[in-house]
Amino acid sequence: MEAACACSTRTIAVMDWSWTSDQEALREEARQVGADAVERFARHNDAWINGYSKEFAKELAARGWIGMTWPAEHGGGGRHPIDRLIVGEELISAGAPIASMWFADRQMGPTLIAYGREDQQQQFLPGILAGDTTWCIGMSEPNAGSDLASLKTSARLDGEQWVLNGQKIWTSFAAVADYCYMICRTSADGPPHEGISEIIVSMDTPGIEVRPITDMTTNRHFCEVFLEDVHVPRANLVGVEGNAFRQTMRQLEHERGGIDRLVSNQALYQFALDRARADGRLDDPLVRQEVAALEIGYRVGRMLVIREVMRQAPAGFSAATKCFCTEHEWRVSEFVARTLGAEATLWNDITQGVIYAPGYTIMGGTSNVMRNIIGERLLGLPREPR
Ligand SMILES: Cc1cc2nc3c(=O)[nH]c(=O)nc-3n(C[C@H](O)[C@H](O)[C@H](O)COP(=O)(O)OP(=O)(O)OC[C@H]3O[C@@H](n4cnc5c(N)ncnc54)[C@H](O)[C@@H]3O)c2cc1C
Repeated sequence: MEAACACSTRTIAVMDWSWTSDQEALREEARQVGADAVERFARHNDAWINGYSKEFAKELAARGWIGMTWPAEHGGGGRHPIDRLIVGEELISAGAPIASMWFADRQMGPTLIAYGREDQQQQFLPGILAGDTTWCIGMSEPNAGSDLASLKTSARLDGEQWVLNGQKIWTSFAAVADYCYMICRTSADGPPHEGISEIIVSMDTPGIEVRPITDMTTNRHFCEVFLEDVHVPRANLVGVEGNAFRQTMRQLEHERGGIDRLVSNQALYQFALDRARADGRLDDPLVRQEVAALEIGYRVGRMLVIREVMRQAPAGFSAATKCFCTEHEWRVSEFVARTLGAEATLWNDITQGVIYAPGYTIMGGTSNVMRNIIGERLLGLPREPR
């Protein structure tokens, strides 16, 4: 909402920062749903990637909380992006298990709406909206992470089929996913970033072998995916052949600018803060300063995210939002470790949450790479000579 402020020389539009009563009611509802989910399914750090429950996804679907902002003609809720932000903020802060639907809600659905054909939208969107299908993203490879254009997994056209060969790594949920949004090389001609395409692969297709990886935090969402002569219908190519680089960059804007980048360890933070309050450590001026900095950081991060979801940030700015927000999450984990001391080293979900922190600044593009984007694309600084 905007109001007008008459100043001496001109009239300035004034933003009303308060939440509406409908937004407050939605937040309270989401808070209750999140608390109830944690009771039933346990609390998860970084719940949008670590907390997997198809049962809960279907409950969210029944509330219309999947595809909330997608256009109504595609079966979505057509709601304001702030509504989705509120629901996401509350569910992830609580640690409710939303991983089974989050990737598809955040990325694949909007990408299919933007680039998919009508038959693809009809085939894949209803399953996502119902909370029935889980999707994974096959981008990273053993020798292609930050430099996505160097990926080698190939898709060769053979009649009406794509034939895929290669290997992906760090593919979250590949072991339980129904579909993989696979980024493949469809041409070796021309500049590397021009020969890659996006292909939807059903994970039960013969020739796919998935090997889960247990990381040092005991999480098991990571997988290696091996593809050997995997035949996929030609019709599963999304958008324009060879245009994946541009399409994927658009997907990454969805991935980098959302509230999930800020709130992933809020439950841990509240736990540590309550402990510090209970044992009098908040009387220590250094601890108080740290808490103040984190509280300010959270609010600044949320403003950046609001600007992203309202589509008011400049193109590419999600790199700055991602960098700021995930480095905030890292600082939260350092605060938790310092505040809990020895308790943070016992093997429980607190330890898990603390040692997981570097992952925030890696997934979806590392902080180094985000800074390159900020320097080169947003600020127009000269590139480092190679
Ligand atoms: C929790 C988590 C979930 C993930 N889920 C998925 C998933 O579902 N699907 C998927 O495809 N991938 C996933 N990834 C992988 C992720 O996208 C990659 O780890 C990331 O892109 C970095 O690639 P890399 O690990 O190969 O590191 P590299 O690219 O090899 O980078 C190594 C180091 O070099 C630095 N570096 C690299 N290039 C530059 C440069 N140009 N300038 C400055 N520094 C540079 C990096 O910042 C980093 O410090 C996930 C990762 C994490 C942590």
